[in-house]
Amino acid sequence: MSETMNTSSNFIKNIIKEDLATGKHDQIITRFPPEPNGYLHIGHAKSIVLNFEIADEFKGKTNLRFDDTNPLKEDREFVESIKEDIEWLGYEWDGLHFASNYFDEMYDRAVLLIKKGLAYVEDMSQEQIREYRGTLKEPGKESPHRNRTVEENLDLFTRMKNGEFQNGERVLRAKIDMSSPNINMRDPVIYRISHAEHHNTGDKWCIYPMYSFAHPLEDAIEGVTHSICTLEFEDQRPLYNWVVEECEMEAKPKQIEFARLNLTNTVMSKRKLKLFVDENYVDGWDDPRMPTISGFRRRGFTPESIKQFCREIGVAKSDNTVDVRMLEHFIREDLKMKAPRTMSVLHPLKVVITNYPEGEVEWLDAEINPENPEMGTRKIPFSREIYVEQSDFMENPPKKYFRLFPGNEVRLKHAYFIKCNEVIKDDQGNVIELHCTYDPETKSGTGFTGRKVKGTLHWVEASNAKKAEFRLYDSLILDERGGDDFLDQVNPNSLEVANGFVEPNMEEAKAHDKFQFFRHGYFNVDPKETTEDKLVFNRIVELKSSFKL
Ligand code: ATP
Ligand code: MG
Repeated sequence: MSETMNTSSNFIKNIIKEDLATGKHDQIITRFPPEPNGYLHIGHAKSIVLNFEIADEFKGKTNLRFDDTNPLKEDREFVESIKEDIEWLGYEWDGLHFASNYFDEMYDRAVLLIKKGLAYVEDMSQEQIREYRGTLKEPGKESPHRNRTVEENLDLFTRMKNGEFQNGERVLRAKIDMSSPNINMRDPVIYRISHAEHHNTGDKWCIYPMYSFAHPLEDAIEGVTHSICTLEFEDQRPLYNWVVEECEMEAKPKQIEFARLNLTNTVMSKRKLKLFVDENYVDGWDDPRMPTISGFRRRGFTPESIKQFCREIGVAKSDNTVDVRMLEHFIREDLKMKAPRTMSVLHPLKVVITNYPEGEVEWLDAEINPENPEMGTRKIPFSREIYVEQSDFMENPPKKYFRLFPGNEVRLKHAYFIKCNEVIKDDQGNVIELHCTYDPETKSGTGFTGRKVKGTLHWVEASNAKKAEFRLYDSLILDERGGDDFLDQVNPNSLEVANGFVEPNMEEAKAHDKFQFFRHGYFNVDPKETTEDKLVFNRIVELKSSFKL
């Protein structure tokens, strides 16, 4: 499963190797700890691949743990979608856990800190706490409540838990060091009041642990050995270790930071992606334009392409931005051998082949995939009326235009040469039909060498053609950086819909079948909007790219 990952080393693997060699651990345990406040995005895929494949390589385990300590933002729908996405990528978790199942233990550990004189109840407002915290240059000031007695703290914390105070009226703070150069160590808040229904614990709790207190406890409770997280948590590591130590946790997980994945023209945050959904910029979390795992799935990306991309970008210690075209490279690579070739016309223009017998249809042989001959051949009909692409005809072409124009001859892929003789227009002067003649001598596969033509066009026979809708995507935001002003950067042309035709054998296509449409790119049968009467295709990616790996 993880062949490619295994061959290359990285600094995280080196740490693990060392910890196994010295006997610090017999078996490693990693975890993937999403907050169920949205659907997973491609950045999460990087973390998933890393955690699951590292554990796999060292015969360890990986837990899926929902970090659900913030009742206001979390939802069952997100829990289910996250599980589905990880399974779709092809990973099996060992333990399935919810941080909220540890609320009792976390509460007890907070009480332990109070008893040790290492936590106190704070009455000041959030703003005052911030004022007292100081800055990078100035030390913080101690709160007037910092030296409450243990008894008073225990009493107040119990009353917080019992719901005697309103949101924001009190918090519990760790008592560490108000003059620490690391601001995270200046008596961080570890519990807050939130009278809110929790998706798992209902109304049992009205106080909830803060992430920086909860996360190290969750890791330690599960015996996680290597807690891999993104770089922005580096400054939190001393607090992480302090919590594990002072809460007297038996297991001592090691936090290791790596650079998060950023992609060009891509917003990478559940919170921000939720805005696209809530404000109807897109059609749900799985809109094929979304950089969510479910969006990529609906668009037509395969698990293999996403995993291979995640392996190849590697893990680093400094942030960088990866070109989104690199991800596209991997889906082309994956589909090259697998996807049947077929023809579709997105913007149809009717062609009548005037010297072809009326009412006759012949079935031509066509290779399914020239890159993979084992896939065999298919039959495609040819007759007097076909569709070609509107853009494959020009009445007054520029130089070097080798497609159809009056008097010019082209090759129809898998069929014959045709020559354009007459252009039919409607009252407004729009071209509505071409009249051509074909040359029976030029049939594809017969080895005709009599003369050459420069253009090869795709086409679909009209009487048997199946109607289809094609959705062509462009990036959701125009700005490469995907900065905070991302809603001003929304691309008004991120979706183009075309109505055209596909070959009749596509009748059997089912949701998620993937094809290469000659000259148009790779497409996926949309699983949501395809019906008995209408096939809907999402373009996964175009055929060519200037991107070089
Ligand atoms: P978001 O802001 O999108 O919600 P997050 O980091 O808050 O991201 P979590 O659900 O807390 O999301 O993340 C679960 C795991 O995924 C964490 O270990 C986090 O470090 C990792 N992760 C999130 N975004 C990325 C990214 N862009 N690249 C790599 N790992 C990521
Ligand atoms: Mg988050």
